[in-house]
Amino acid sequence: MCLENIRKSDVEVYDLIKAEERRQYDKIRLIASENYASAAVMEATGSVFTNKYSEGYAGKRYYEGQQLVDQVETLAIERAKALFGAEHANVQPYSGSPANLAVYFALLKPGDKVMGLALPHGGHLTHGWNVSITGAYYQAVQYGVSETTHLLDYDAIREQARRERPRMIIAGATAYSRIIDFAAFADIAREVDAMLLVDMAHIAGLVAGGVHPSPIPHAHVVSTTTHKTLRGPRGGMLLCRADLADAIDKAVFPGLQGGPHNHTTAGIAVALKEAAQPEFKAYATQIVKNAQALADELMARGFRVITGGTDNHLVLVDVTSKGTRGKKLAKVLDRCGIVCNMNTVPFDPRKPFDPSGIRLGSAAVTSRGMKEAQARQIAAFIDRATTLIDDLDAQARLQEEVKEFCKPFPAPGIVVE
Ligand SMILES: *Cc1c(COP(=O)(O)O)cnc(C)c1O
Repeated sequence: MCLENIRKSDVEVYDLIKAEERRQYDKIRLIASENYASAAVMEATGSVFTNKYSEGYAGKRYYEGQQLVDQVETLAIERAKALFGAEHANVQPYSGSPANLAVYFALLKPGDKVMGLALPHGGHLTHGWNVSITGAYYQAVQYGVSETTHLLDYDAIREQARRERPRMIIAGATAYSRIIDFAAFADIAREVDAMLLVDMAHIAGLVAGGVHPSPIPHAHVVSTTTHKTLRGPRGGMLLCRADLADAIDKAVFPGLQGGPHNHTTAGIAVALKEAAQPEFKAYATQIVKNAQALADELMARGFRVITGGTDNHLVLVDVTSKGTRGKKLAKVLDRCGIVCNMNTVPFDPRKPFDPSGIRLGSAAVTSRGMKEAQARQIAAFIDRATTLIDDLDAQARLQEEVKEFCKPFPAPGIVVE
C-alpha cells in the first residue's frame, strides 16, 4: 500500500501498519474468519468515499451530493444479487453482528423466541447466546450437535422446534466443518411456521464459488460478513426475498444504523466482482482441498479432528489427544509463526477460556496460492509445535522456518521490501 503520507505525518501508526504487513506476510494465518483482501479491495476501502454521508438508500437520501455514492451502492447491490441469485440485497450493515441484529429487528418483537446453534457447539454470539443482545432481548433457545457424531441432527432439531415453536430459526456457524443442509432447516421452519435466517458469514465465499450449497432458495433472509471466505473489506450484507426487502432495509436504516460506510460499500462492490470471476471458483475449490489435506495429515499424526474431516474451509481439532490444550497450543503456535485460535470442541469437558481445541481455516493460505502439499506441511509444523511447548528457542527457530516457507507465496495486498 502507498503509505507515504502517513509515514510523514504519523510515524507511530506508519510503523505499526508496516509491522502488521510484515506479520501477515511472514506467518501462516489459519484463523478461519480471516483472509487477505486484494489490493484493489483495499484501494476502494481507502478511497474518498469515506468522506461522504449518505443516510437512506439510492434515490432516497437525506443529504445531497449522492450522484456517485448512489451508483457505487447500486453496483454493489446488483453484483450481490447476481452472484448469489437473490431478489434483494442490502449492503449497508457495518458488519456481521449488526446485520444479524437488523434481521431480528425486522422480523421479530422483543421477547419473541429464537432458536440458534449454541455457541459451544459452533454457533455465533448473535444466534441467541446469553451474553449477546440477541439472548438478552429475545427469548433464545439453543440447539446443539449430536453427542455421538458431532453433526447437526436434523431430526433432533425438528423435535426441539416442534416443542419450542420459535418465531425464527437461525442456521449457520462459526466452527462447523460440514455441509449445512439448508433445505432441511427450511422444512423444519415451514413445519413450525418459523422464519429462517441463514447466517453464511464463514462460508459466503464457498457459496459464491459453488462449493457449498446455497441457502438463498431456502431462507427468508441470508446474512453474511463480507471479509471472511468472501475476501472483501470488513462489512456485512443481507440478502432476502423481494417481499421482505422493505422490512430489511428499514431495519438497517433508520432502525439500527445511521450513514452507511460508503468506502466499505465500494470495497464490497470490488470484492463481489472478483468473486464472480472463474479464478474465484478455483480459489473456493482449493480452499476445501487444502482444509481436507490439513485435516487428513493432522489425523495421520494422531490429532483428533472433530467429525473426522471437513467439507469446507474449517478444521476443528481436539489437541488433548496430543497431550496439550487449545489455549496453550494456540499461544505456542503463534510464537512458531502459525496463527490460529483456541476453540471449544462439542461437549468440551474443559472451560471456554481454556478449551480442548483449536480452530483452523484454510482461506488465507489458499489466497496466497498454497496447495495440498503446503497444507500437509502446515500440519507437520503444527505437530512439531506440540513437541516444543516449553522450548522458546526451538519455537523461535520454527518461526524462522515458517517465514522461509511463506516467502514463495505472495500475500495479496502486501508488498514487502
Ligand atoms: C463472524 C461471524 C459473525 C459476526 O461478524 P462480525 O463482523 O464479527 O460482527 C456473525 N455470524 C457468524 C456465523 C460469523 O461467523
